[in-house]
Amino acid sequence: MEPVRPEGVSEEVAGWEVRATEPDLAGIASVQVAGKECPTSWGLRATPLAVPNAEPGWYENRMIVSVASGKGGTGKTLVATSLALSLKDRERVQMLDCDVEEPDVHIFLRPVITRSEAVYIQVPEMDEKKCTYCGKCAEVCAYHAIAVLGKHVLVFPELCHGCGACSYLCPENAISEEGRESGIVEWGHSDGIEFAHGKLNVGEAMAPPVIRKVKEQASNNGVVIVDAPPGTSCPVVESIKGSDFCILVTEPTLFGLNDLMLAVETVRELDIPCGVVLNRAGVGDRKVEEYCQKEKIPILLTIPMDIGIARI
Ligand code: SF4
Ligand code: SF4
Repeated sequence: MEPVRPEGVSEEVAGWEVRATEPDLAGIASVQVAGKECPTSWGLRATPLAVPNAEPGWYENRMIVSVASGKGGTGKTLVATSLALSLKDRERVQMLDCDVEEPDVHIFLRPVITRSEAVYIQVPEMDEKKCTYCGKCAEVCAYHAIAVLGKHVLVFPELCHGCGACSYLCPENAISEEGRESGIVEWGHSDGIEFAHGKLNVGEAMAPPVIRKVKEQASNNGVVIVDAPPGTSCPVVESIKGSDFCILVTEPTLFGLNDLMLAVETVRELDIPCGVVLNRAGVGDRKVEEYCQKEKIPILLTIPMDIGIARI
C-alpha cells in the first residue's frame, strides 16, 4: 500500500517519518526511534511510514489509557511501562508519569532527558496600603489559604490552589499574583517511547498543577499512557480525567478489593470505561474476581506471583 503521509512530515528515515515538531531539540544529531537510528536534528515525534490497513486519518487518532490503582504497591507502574514497551513497535507511544510525588517510570524506562521546565502556581500577594480588611478574600477562598484577623491579612501559600478567586473578587484591587515554584516537568525519550514526568518539590502539597503541566504534553495521535498516582484523591482525578480507558491494577486481597471498589467509584464518576489487571494472582482469595463479575468489569489480565517477573 502507499505510505500514509500526515501533514507536517518533513523527513523520511528508514521507514519512519520524523516530524519537525520539537524545535527546542535542535542540535541533537540523531535519535533512536523504535530501535532505529534517526539522523535528524529535529525531534522524536516519529510514526511508521506505512501501517497495514491504515485508513486516511489514522494518524489523527489518539487514545489515552490511564493506569491507576486504589492503593500503592500493586504493580501499577510495571503494568504501565510493560504496556508502553509492548506497543512501541506498532504504535506511536507516549508515556506520561503523573505520579508527581513519587515518579518512578524513569527507573523502568531509563529515558534520556532532553528538556525541563519549572511549574509555578500563582499565589496572592497583598498590598496592605489598599486593603480595607473587609474579609472578602478569606470568605471566597475554598481552601482556607487566607485569613483576615483584625488589621492583618495572612496568606498560607502552601494551601493556595492558584484559582485566582481572591484577586478577582477583591473590591479594592489590593491583590496581585506572584508565581511560586511547585515542581518541574521533564521531557525525554526512551527507545522509541516519548516520555514526560513531573516532580513535585519536597514539602509541596499541590500536585495537580504539576500533573496538568505533564498532561499538556499529550500528543494528538497514537497511544498516550498515563501512570496515575495511587489512591482516589485529587491528584488521581486530575491524572485520569480525559482518559478514553482506565486500567485498574489490584491484587487479590481484602485491601486490594476495598481499594479497587473505591477506584471503580472514581472512574465511574468520571464516566471512564475501565478494566482490571489482577497482579499477584493466586496469593489471596477470589473476592476480586467475584466483585468484577458482579459489576461487569472485565479482568484484562492476571499476573501470577512469580519472582521471575521481578527479575525482568
Ligand atoms: S478582599 Fe481585598 S480589601 Fe478585602 S481583606 Fe482581602 S485583600 Fe483586603
Ligand atoms: S488564589 Fe484561590 S486558593 Fe489561592 S488564596 Fe486566592 S482564593 Fe485561595
